[in-house]
Amino acid sequence: EARTPDRLRSSIVCIMGHVDTGKTKLLDNIRRTNVQEGEAGGITQQIGASFFPAETLRERMGSLVEKKNITVKVPGLMIIDTPGHESFSNLRSRGSSLCDLAIVVVDIMHGLEPQTIESLTMLRSKKTPFVIALNKVDRLYGWSTVKDRPFIESLEVQPEGTRSEFESRASQVLLQLAEQGLNAELYYKNKDFKEYVSLIPTSAITGEGVPDILMMLVLLSQKMLVDRVMWCPEVQCTVLEVKVIEGLGTTADVILANGTLKRGDQIVMCGFSGPVVTRVRELLTPRPLREMRVKTDYLHHESIDGAMGIKICANNLEGVVAGSACLVPYKDVPYDLEVLKEDVMSDLSQLAKAASEVNGGVGVYAIASTLGSLEALLEFLKTSKIPVSAVNIGPIHKKDVMKASIMHQFKSEYATILAFDVNLTKEGADMAKELNVRIFTAEIIYHLFDQFTAYMADVRK
Ligand code: GDP
Ligand code: MG
Repeated sequence: EARTPDRLRSSIVCIMGHVDTGKTKLLDNIRRTNVQEGEAGGITQQIGASFFPAETLRERMGSLVEKKNITVKVPGLMIIDTPGHESFSNLRSRGSSLCDLAIVVVDIMHGLEPQTIESLTMLRSKKTPFVIALNKVDRLYGWSTVKDRPFIESLEVQPEGTRSEFESRASQVLLQLAEQGLNAELYYKNKDFKEYVSLIPTSAITGEGVPDILMMLVLLSQKMLVDRVMWCPEVQCTVLEVKVIEGLGTTADVILANGTLKRGDQIVMCGFSGPVVTRVRELLTPRPLREMRVKTDYLHHESIDGAMGIKICANNLEGVVAGSACLVPYKDVPYDLEVLKEDVMSDLSQLAKAASEVNGGVGVYAIASTLGSLEALLEFLKTSKIPVSAVNIGPIHKKDVMKASIMHQFKSEYATILAFDVNLTKEGADMAKELNVRIFTAEIIYHLFDQFTAYMADVRK
C-alpha cells in the first residue's frame, strides 16, 4: 500500500506548559461541549487520548470553516489527555517524538514561566512543531464574552481599553519568546508558519479561541506535516503506561501512531530486565463516553489502524518499561527476532552508554520513572554540566544505592542519586543511610538542578 496524500492518518497532539496555565481546562473545554450536548460525531475517549473526528472539528470551528474556506482532510485529531512533560517525553520513537504537534499553554496574565521554558526547550530539541495558546483572555479587564466564538471575532468587539491591554500583554509575551530565541507572531498576523510560531489567544472557560486553535492544528497537520501524517502500514507504537486493571491483569496502554495492530500479533518491548516478547491477547478501546472502570466498559477489536490509543492485554507485561517502543515483526518480510530484541533494548542501553562514556564513568546516578523521562533527565543534566556515571529506570532500590556508593572511591560528592518522578523504597532509603549516599528526588527536572547545585556549593565550602 503506497503512501499517498489522499490518505492521511489523524495527527497526534500533545499539550504542555506551566502548572495552572489551564491545560486541563482547555482539554475539558474542547471535549465537554461535544460530550454534554451530544453533537453528531462527538468525540471518543481513547486510552490516554481523546479522538476528535473531522465532523466534530468542523462543527467546533464554527464560522471559521466558511470564513477561511477550510477543508478537513485529516480523519481527526488525537489529543493526548495526560498533560505534562511525562506524557510528551514518553511519546518517543527512536529518539524523535511520536507527537506530530504540541500546544504550549501560556497564561496571558503571567507570561512565560519556568515550565513554559522547559517545554519549549524539549519541543525544540525534538523538533516538534507547536502552537502557543495564550490562555485566559477572559481575564482581561472589561472582556465581553460570547461562548465558543472565534477569537478574531471576539477581539473586534472588545472595548478599546480591553483591546489595548490585550495588545500590550501579547507583545510582552512575544518579547519574552524572542528572548528565548523564538520567532513568534499572533496567528492571524502570521505570514510564515514555518519560521514563526503561532500565538493563539484562548479562554478555556468561555471557549473563545477554541475554534481558532482547532483550525490551526488542522491546517498545520494537513499543510505542513502531510509527509508525516500520510498513512503507512509500518507499525509505529509506543507504550505510554503499564498498569494492572482488575479483571484484565497487567495491561499496556499504547499509542499506535501508524500501521495496524491485530489480535495475536507478536510484539517486542523493552523490559527492566531484558526484552519482552509476547503476543497481543486483547486489543481494547474504551466504549464511547463511558467511564472505564470495569472490563465490560471496553470494546474488543480484531484489528486497529493508527493513529489510536489502545489498551493491550498480553502475558509478561509486568516488566515493560513505559516509554518503550512496541515493535511488531513484519509478516511479509523475513525478520530476525534477535535483531528486534536488540533494537528495542538499544534505547535504554544507548542512554546508559552515552551518559557514562563522556565522563570516564565518574558522576552522579540518574534514575527516572520511564524511558522518556530518563532521556529528558539526561538531556537536562548534560546541559547543566552535571556528569552522570550510571542510569536506571523505576523506583530506587538497594542495588541502585549500592551502585551509586561506588563513587565514594572516586569523588565522594558524586555518591548521589538524582531521581526524577520515582519513589524511594524503604530498603533503598535504609541502604542510603548506611552507605552515606545522597538522594535528591523531584517531580520537576530543574528542581533537581537547584538541589544538586546547592549541595555542591555546600560541599565545596
Ligand atoms: P493546568 O495546571 O495547566 O492543568 O491548569 P488547570 O486547567 O487546572 O487550570 C488552573 C486554574 O485556572 C483553574 O482554577 C481554572 O479554572 C483556571 N483557568 C484555566 N483556564 C482559564 C481561562 O481560560 N480563564 C480563566 N478565567 N480561568 C482559567
Ligand atoms: Mg492539569
